[in-house]
Amino acid sequence: MLILSLSIPACRHTPNPATTQSSSHRIVCSFLPMYLFTTAVVGNTPDFTVDLLLPSNIGCPHDYELTTADARRLADADVVILSGGLETFSGEAIRRINSKAKQIEAWTGCKVIADTGDEAAHDAHDSHLHAGNPHVWLSPIEAVREVENIRAGLAAAYPDHAVDFDRNAAAFTAKLKSLQADFAAARPTFKHRNIVTMHDAFAYLARDLDLNVVASITLNPQQEPPPGRVAAIVATIKKEKVPCLFTEPDVSAALASTIAREAGVKVHSLDPLTTTTSKPAPDYYEQRMRANLQTLKESLQ
Ligand SMILES: [Zn+2]
Repeated sequence: MLILSLSIPACRHTPNPATTQSSSHRIVCSFLPMYLFTTAVVGNTPDFTVDLLLPSNIGCPHDYELTTADARRLADADVVILSGGLETFSGEAIRRINSKAKQIEAWTGCKVIADTGDEAAHDAHDSHLHAGNPHVWLSPIEAVREVENIRAGLAAAYPDHAVDFDRNAAAFTAKLKSLQADFAAARPTFKHRNIVTMHDAFAYLARDLDLNVVASITLNPQQEPPPGRVAAIVATIKKEKVPCLFTEPDVSAALASTIAREAGVKVHSLDPLTTTTSKPAPDYYEQRMRANLQTLKESLQ
């Protein structure tokens, strides 16, 4: 133990959690936003590995089922960070793989929005129908709550490092508050407020900005919309005078352009922050959320 602890300072300035496989503390995060928030809280604290569980190219992970590779990653985790409501594998499925891992649901205490009630968007297999809309991380206000829950959960799991987590969480929360201020400043400025999105990820962002999501094409971006859905959406866009359609990086461009062409509106893209092609920079969350805000400002004038 002594030898190990003496060797730690050398690692202090190489915060590359994915490659420090010898770390004795292992945290696994369910999907990208949880990885972004957790790496912000852990920061350069030595001797920690923070891993992303789900592949970062699958988009919003509705109804995801764990693979054997996921099970290997979970097997030696001390802590698993989940957002909540979205991860159908939380609880028992993880306990079967690793009964000792502490599971933290970051959305605890968030002001959860009920599911849309738009039955046409629901699929019979949707598992979060009664838990509420799970996409809380797309509100900078709810993101602060998630970061606080992650901080508190990690401080309880690793009390020796609580001071580091407190300091890092405070610094990241200050950045989220600055983001909140930008959102608050933009809130009164939109000329159009009715929006249509591909899946129901943006209800929280819309609430922060006083926008109305009049329709979402599906609750699950991995599934084709049910029959008749496209025609219903086109009708809604025309009736509600929605100025454009917001697609997402993970959604079929053909589907979005078909709807937009039939409705006679333009397509813009909002990022639900569930996909990345490379290792995200420390300010990835703020950057992408500011890009979303900019897209909304430009397209709803
Ligand atoms: Zn989603």
